[in-house]
Parts: sequence; structure tokens; C-alpha cells
Amino acid sequence: MSKKTLIIGAGGVGNVVAFKCAMNVKSFGEITLASRTVSKCDTIAKNVLAKTGVSLRTETIDADSVADILVLFNKIKPDIVINVALPYQDLTIMDACSQCGIDYLDTANYEHPNTAKFEYKEQWARDEQFKDANIMGLLGSGFDPGVTNLFCAYAQKHYFDEIHTIDILDCNAGDHGYAFATNFNPEINLREVSAKGRYWENGVWIETEPMEIKQVWDYPEIGAKDSYLLYHEEMESLVKHIKGLKRIRFFMTFGESYLTHMKCLENVGMLGIKEVEHKGQKIVPMEFLATLLPDPASLGNRTTGKTNIGIFAKGIKDGKERTIYIYQISDHEKCYAEVMSQGVSYTTGVPAMIGAKLILKGIWQGKGVFNIEEFDPDPFMDELNTQGLPWQVMELAKGESREVVHTKNTLL
Ligand code: NDP
Repeated sequence: MSKKTLIIGAGGVGNVVAFKCAMNVKSFGEITLASRTVSKCDTIAKNVLAKTGVSLRTETIDADSVADILVLFNKIKPDIVINVALPYQDLTIMDACSQCGIDYLDTANYEHPNTAKFEYKEQWARDEQFKDANIMGLLGSGFDPGVTNLFCAYAQKHYFDEIHTIDILDCNAGDHGYAFATNFNPEINLREVSAKGRYWENGVWIETEPMEIKQVWDYPEIGAKDSYLLYHEEMESLVKHIKGLKRIRFFMTFGESYLTHMKCLENVGMLGIKEVEHKGQKIVPMEFLATLLPDPASLGNRTTGKTNIGIFAKGIKDGKERTIYIYQISDHEKCYAEVMSQGVSYTTGVPAMIGAKLILKGIWQGKGVFNIEEFDPDPFMDELNTQGLPWQVMELAKGESREVVHTKNTLL
């Protein structure tokens, strides 16, 4: 019987998921794209039809309301929901899925709008609820989290007996020509990068000031780039699932212009997430800033350059030390040519589609709530190669390193 797929969220990532599901329509069957602003769904559907010949249904939905979601679920009766709205909607969509017995997938962990805190606690707490409903919830099926978790699982399965350290590296060497813009939802992006940094070593989390630790990494096909230590959500599940791990860190590249703008915005209070009163009206500074900044979905046709996201893993295989870098390189312009989105949306949307495809085909099965590295990485890694995200493994010689400098950030 043909499947029914519901995608929620029609931003940059939703656009890619819609295109890629249409390109794999045999697996996804009847596809509906629903979001708060239905005109955005209609535009995507029009583009998808023109490029792929596949027709999508579109719907409006307020995914903050479980009741609203249930009405749509009852109308469409989807087999799976791909949640690419914002992290604020994770719990309402999960609760509606468990009430209706529908499999669930997302790309970012739940965040409360009033507290910039990323953690899986509330989504993991829904494990029993999902088991009782006989459904599967797949958390974090984007790139990071998502592919980076699977790179770790793949390294664990094929390259190591024990992994001791992992450094997850996210390099975007793309240029959109704006002095300051974010490549995915501005509010979520700025909350993430302005938060305190954190990494895990010998069983404890070590906190740093925001962007305090700067390191220059030498990225294959891109070169040396300033990279900053951030807290990133995939580390929370990876410390549970990777054997013998002693340390895990996450680094992301930022240019000087981005950092100086961000510091200035922070200094004047524009990154605030608490309401302030302005001429008798209540506004949240960060939300207002997001309104002013370019819509990430509009960056597609003006972004050039490449991304390189990967994991450095060091550990032991057959009694010998080993270091590898598993990585994926995407070209922003090629992504746009294929699906009318820049590389950051592309690298998130393709893995969301692949995760959903493996669930619909029954290749990944489970009842409850799972992080992606709990499944066999091989079928997903194969799909990455054929769906537009080919990856590579670099084996480093003994003593070789791609870490250039480790220093304190002097810009901030
Ligand atoms: P956008 O802001 O471009 O799009 C978000 C979409 O969700 C918009 O269409 C928005 O509607 C819709 N939406 C927001 N609130 C609601 C609501 N209450 N009900 C229904 N729809 C709603 O974000 P992106 O596409 O850049 O990001 C999407 C998700 O992907 C985010 O959760 C982000 O954190 C995640 N992400 C994950 C990455 C990974 O590698 N794992 C990397 C990048 C992003 P409207 O148009 O009306 O505003």
C-alpha cells in the first residue's frame, strides 16, 4: 500500500526535504507539506512540481497546538511525520504522534522558547509513551546532529575497537555576500552560538565562556579556518553510545565579521530572549532581530563556496593507535542547482529524508524514542552516497595532525 508522508515546516530545510522526498516518491507515496504560513508551502510545491513532476499537498498548521496537529493528522493519516519546523514544536508534534500512532523524526532537540537550553531530557522522557503507542521516534536526523552521529557509529563499527576522543568539526566556508546573516533559522542559530561552550572529558562536562576556545583546523579541500568550541546537542547522546570515549568536543567555523556583529548585537541587548517593553508593546529582542535578518531560505541563489563537516576520531584498533577523519563536502551552488537551497539547508534536509526513508522501508525499526547512532549506520551511509552527500574517510599517519593552533579567542 502506498505510504503517506507529512512534512511540517516550510523553511530552508523543509524545502530540501520536500524536494528530496519527491525525488524518492516511491518510498514516500503521497506527500503533504504543512506549515504556519501556507503560502511558503505553495511556493515550494510549485517549484517541486516544476522540477520533479511530483505534486505535493499543502496545508496550514499551528504546530504549537496539539489539537491543531491532531486535526491535520486525522485528515491526512500519515505514516510518518518529518518535523522540520522549529525545536519549540518538537514536544507538541511528538505528543500528537503518540496519540495517533504515527512514526516521528526531527533534526533538532527540544528547546523552550524562554530558555536557551538544548537537551534531550524531555524528548527521552517520551520513550515509554512511544513504546505504548507502538511507534518509533528518531531524534536528530539532520547533519549535526545526524550524519555526525552516524560518522561516529560508523567509525566505531568499522575502524576502532575503542574510540578515545572525538572532535566534531563544522566548517561552512560559504559566502552569501551579506555582512551578517545566518544559514539556518536566525533565532535558533544565535541562541546556539551565544550560549556558553561545553565539552565532555572523563565523564564530566566542562563549561567555557561563549566562543572562548578558538582552534585553527585544516579542513580538506578548504584549508585552515578559525574554529570555535561550542556546545552541540549530539554530544549528549554520543557520550552514552560510543564505547571507551574519554573526550568529545565540537567546533564550528566563524569569520571575523560574524563574530564582531554578534558581539555588538549582544552588547546592545539584541540577543535577549526575554520580553521588553517598546512604546507600549512587548517584544523579544532576538525575535525582532530575526525579523530584520535575511531569511535563510533566501540565501540559496547568492551563496558560493563549500561546507566540510566531519569527525576526527582517535582510538585503538588491534592494539594500535589510529586516527581518522570522516567527512562530507558540499558545494553551495550545486545544492542550489539541484533543489533551490544553499548547502546548510541541503545537508540537513537530505539526512532527514534518508532517516524517514529507512523507517518507512522498515530497514530501521524500533518502538520508543531513539538517537540516530543507535541504529546500524551502514544503510544510511550508503544512501548518503547516492542522495547527494558523498563522504570520505581520511586515515592520518602516526603523529600527523590537522589541528593547527589552540588558543584563547582574543576577538571577544
Ligand atoms: P526556518 O526558520 O527557515 O523554517 C522553519 C519553518 O517552521 C518555517 O516555515 C516556519 O513557519 C515553520 N514554523 C515555525 N513555527 C511553526 C509553528 N508553530 N507551526 C507550524 N510551522 C511553524 O528554519 P530552517 O528551515 O533553517 O530550520 C528548520 C529546523 O532544522 C530547525 O529546527 C533547525 O534547528 C533545524 N536544523 C538542523 C540542523 C542539523 O544539522 N541537525 C542544521 C540546520 C537546521 P513560518 O514560515 O510561518 O515562519
